Amino acid sequence: MASSPSSTNPDARRHQSTALRHALRLQEEKALQARILDLILEAYDLPSQPASSPSHASTIDIQHFKSCLGLFQPSDFDDLVRERNIDDRCGYALCSKPNKKLDPGARKVWNRKGGSEFRIVDRAEMEKWCSDDCGERAAFVQAQLSPEPAWLRDAQVQNVQLLDEMARTVDLEQALQVWCIRSEVSLSSADSLSRSLQLLELLMMS
Ligand SMILES: [Zn+2]
Repeated sequence: MASSPSSTNPDARRHQSTALRHALRLQEEKALQARILDLILEAYDLPSQPASSPSHASTIDIQHFKSCLGLFQPSDFDDLVRERNIDDRCGYALCSKPNKKLDPGARKVWNRKGGSEFRIVDRAEMEKWCSDDCGERAAFVQAQLSPEPAWLRDAQVQNVQLLDEMARTVDLEQALQVWCIRSEVSLSSADSLSRSLQLLELLMMS
């Protein structure tokens, strides 16, 4: 029996192999996109206890939140925050409090801090959280999320630290510095450079 042309023709075999790889990549991308949507819904349901606070969250909730964040890009985190705010809840998933409600007539508000920390900020930005503390917790998480989709990363699952886990570094700026030092190896890459710029932006805003 004669063999098929594709099994003998090297070009055809190469094309077949490329098409197969492409199909597998698409399949993996779709599966990961579906998984990330599920993870947004899972984080939306946190915390598991109705009166939980981020600084005293249960170990199970912390691990669950971190495993969700592992596959997120910043835009996935934004989606999670938006969905929780629609439900009148603080955007930080380990917090059970309602988000702030400020003067609905104002687009810009002051950040309620005195001295050099006084800033005029978007009302919508402040209304994402119940407090400045949760805003800082979220900024710390957001700064660690890779802008690259999980299916294109070398390390698909990222290990995200929470601000409440940064022992004794109570300040966001200090925590970000510690995180930068810990991530020194990857800070030379272009991807990390853009993350560093985001960090700087966050520091300027806080
Ligand atoms: Zn909160």
